Amino acid sequence: MNAQSVVHRVCPLCRQDNRATPVFSAYSPGEWDLKCCAGCGFVYLESIPDYSATADTLAWDHTFIAWHEARDKAAAQQMLSKMGRGIRHGTHLVRKRRRMDQMIAELAAPGPVLDVGCGKGSQLARLPAQYIPYGIEISAGQAKFAQDLVAQRGGAIMVQPGATGLRQFPAGFFTGIMMRSYLEHESQPREALEGAAHALAPDGVLIIKVPNYGSVNRRVFGRRWCGFRFPDHMNYFTPDTLVRLCAECGLAVRSFSWLDRLPTSDNMWLVAGRA
Ligand SMILES: [Zn+2]
Repeated sequence: MNAQSVVHRVCPLCRQDNRATPVFSAYSPGEWDLKCCAGCGFVYLESIPDYSATADTLAWDHTFIAWHEARDKAAAQQMLSKMGRGIRHGTHLVRKRRRMDQMIAELAAPGPVLDVGCGKGSQLARLPAQYIPYGIEISAGQAKFAQDLVAQRGGAIMVQPGATGLRQFPAGFFTGIMMRSYLEHESQPREALEGAAHALAPDGVLIIKVPNYGSVNRRVFGRRWCGFRFPDHMNYFTPDTLVRLCAECGLAVRSFSWLDRLPTSDNMWLVAGRA
C-alpha cells in the first residue's frame, strides 16, 4: 500500500496522537499498526486505507480478505461461544440469538428506521411494516440492491460514509438506528455516534453490536481471535471504551447489562438514546 492511500488517525476516543506510542506488536501483522492509546487505553488501527480505497476495494461484504485462519478460529472458538449461549439460555432473560429487527420492534416507535452500513439491505428487509427503512452504505454496488428493496416502502439509501451520511438527515428524524457490524469498520466512530445523536428522535433508540475486545476469547486466542480483521476492523472496543465514547457523543446508555457483554461472547450489544 503506498503512502498516499493511507490515513493517519489520532485516538478516536480521546484524540491523542499516538505516533510516539509503540506498536501493539502481538496483534499487529505486517503493515497494520494497532495502537493502545497511551492516554485512554482505546485500541485502534492507527494507519488505515482512505475512504476512496475503502469504497473501491474493501466494501463491507467482508469477502475481500483471504482470511486463511478463519476455519481454525471457528473451530477453536465454538466451545467458548457455546458456553456463552448456554449461560444466556439458562437465564431465560434473553433469546438464544438476538436479531436487530426484533429489537427494533420491541424498542422503537413506528416511523423511519436507519441501518448504518446496510449492505444489500437484508436487515432492512426484515423490519416490520410499521417502519420506513432507510440505509447508509458506502458501496454503491451494494446500495443499489438495498435501494430497490426499500423504495417500495417509502425509504431510501444514501451512498456515503456512515459518519458523513448521518449528518445529512434532519435532526431527530429516526425512531431507531441500527449499527450492526459497522462501528468497528468506521474510521470516524466519534463522528458517527455524534451523527446518530443528531439524527435520533428524543425517545429514539440506537442499537449497537460490535466485537468485544475485552472478551475471554481474545485473551485466550490472541492473534487468532475472530474479531481481528486488518484493515477493515479499525476500532477495538471494550465495554468500558464503548460506553465512554457514547457518553462523549451525546448518547445515554439505556441497556448494557452483563448479559449484553458476556465475557465468553465475541460480541456485545448496547442500546442507547439521546442524552
Ligand atoms: Zn485515547
